[in-house]
Amino acid sequence: MAKCSDPAIGDILSSWRYDISGSSPAVRGDLEAHLVACRQCRTRQRFHRTIDVTLIGVATLSILAFLLAIAVIHHLEPLRTWAVALHMRQINFAVTLQELAVAGLLLSVLAWLLVALVTPAPTYLSELAVAQAREIRNRAPRKAA
Ligand SMILES: [Zn+2]
Repeated sequence: MAKCSDPAIGDILSSWRYDISGSSPAVRGDLEAHLVACRQCRTRQRFHRTIDVTLIGVATLSILAFLLAIAVIHHLEPLRTWAVALHMRQINFAVTLQELAVAGLLLSVLAWLLVALVTPAPTYLSELAVAQAREIRNRAPRKAA
């Protein structure tokens, strides 16, 4: 395993989860130069962004799954009235399948918002999209002026 070429900068990057998007322009240059030079930090940065993107992807899929469940339950009358009896502290109450699906959707949206606010995943994905668009634009044949 390769070692960090500058442990002081490596520690700073590690404490920021290798996210330099919020750093000041003066510091950012040094950090970017270190990421280019240091293979270990580059690998760890890629690992952390993979986790962030996976988390936001799972939360997005969860939202879509619960939306689909709500749509299916809404259209099938037998499912709409199908209830789950819960026995908590000798108190019985029924929750319909539709209410469970709505609760699942709300939890998924909350998880998505948490991931979007706490991790740099949205910034990373938008930078990736801009880079892809630039590459596609550069590859397109230029029109004669
Ligand atoms: Zn390093």
